[in-house]
Amino acid sequence: MTNPNAIPFLDIVTPHVDLEEELCTVFKYALRTAGFVGGPMVESFEAEFAKYCNVQYCAGVGSGTDALRFALIAAGVQPGSIVITVPNTFIATTEGISQAGGVPYFVDVDERTYNMDPERLREFLETECVVDVSGQPTLHKKTGAQVAAVVPVHLYGQMANMDPILELAERYNLVVIEDACQAHGAQYLSQKEKRWMTAGSMGKAAAFSFYPGKNLGACGEAGAVTTKDPELASKVRMLRDHGQARKYFHDLEGYNGRLDAIQAGILKAKLPHLPEWNEQRRENAVRYRDLLRTHQDMMLLPHEPYWSKAVYHLYVVQVGDRDELQKHLAAVGIGTGIHYPIPLHLQKAYQSLGYKPGAFPVAEAAATKILSLPMYPTLGPEQQRRVVEQLVNAVEQAPAGQLAQAVGVK
Ligand SMILES: *Cc1c(COP(=O)(O)O)cnc(C)c1O
Repeated sequence: MTNPNAIPFLDIVTPHVDLEEELCTVFKYALRTAGFVGGPMVESFEAEFAKYCNVQYCAGVGSGTDALRFALIAAGVQPGSIVITVPNTFIATTEGISQAGGVPYFVDVDERTYNMDPERLREFLETECVVDVSGQPTLHKKTGAQVAAVVPVHLYGQMANMDPILELAERYNLVVIEDACQAHGAQYLSQKEKRWMTAGSMGKAAAFSFYPGKNLGACGEAGAVTTKDPELASKVRMLRDHGQARKYFHDLEGYNGRLDAIQAGILKAKLPHLPEWNEQRRENAVRYRDLLRTHQDMMLLPHEPYWSKAVYHLYVVQVGDRDELQKHLAAVGIGTGIHYPIPLHLQKAYQSLGYKPGAFPVAEAAATKILSLPMYPTLGPEQQRRVVEQLVNAVEQAPAGQLAQAVGVK
């Protein structure tokens, strides 16, 4: 029997039930026009999403992974060149880099935001690389490889600290491609631009995923590249479609990475609701904070700097004895997640990169303590109260020693 009081980690049923009629119309339209790949639904979604992100161009692709790969290739990443990112992200970030021919290099993250620490990026560039003043590519001293790009990841729905990252990128001639796959609609207060900027509008290009569980999700696989650069946009359009701008005239060898028309229609129907859904996530984050305020000696809550308006793709706390706590919550019907349990540099897939434990202490320490609580627009106050009650119960029952090592904050 299913527990009627269960609180799932994610609810991607309710929003689709609410919009069922409209979503079915999309499917019927596709059936009746046989417009399954490309066409007006794709184009009109692209136009709407570009507007939402405050950029001129959006190219719909098959997934967020496609978006990363195509954006990096279109931005001119050359085979064997280095692309810098963070170790605490979904593997798609580095798959995109490797599949574009690049070699992923990592820098550690900020301990409060879990996003790329611009100081670590500066340190890597200043100590391990040489910049050529005449505008030549930056070189990595040890390998002689070109350092081509930086991929900051806007993790959990909060943008990375972009001003200093962009400034360093400019000084070292690096392309910046945002991994905005978790950050549809997130905002960053740029000191340089003196205004709030939207995720996907700050780098040379950005990658979005519309995997069903993302803040804007398709009913299947989908992704997009956003950019202000018309050339980059048209290159991505070629890459996603076998290198052709005109059928059977292939200017280059590309991929099959197009956005499905039905998914585009579904995304277009859902997009007008995204601002409200993001607002509900932000309200839920405020409510968690209020409920957990008096328990901050037991756990570390998410930190939103003044320059950030996060869209809470995930609500992540740090606790000691995380695995026991997760088991306790599962036993009482509360779903949680861990994003992510093993930093990429310690994954078997990246053994060949040669990183050792201890290389990125902030990301590594966080990986053992992070716990993602239920977070979605339809999560209600009563459910949040129960999540917090169970969480606090479990933490209080944990042996004192484990509590003490919870997190280094008081
Ligand atoms: C989801 C995600 C991706 C990949 O998107 P897919 O659509 O699953 O290919 C890339 N990076 C991050 C940070 C993600 O969360």
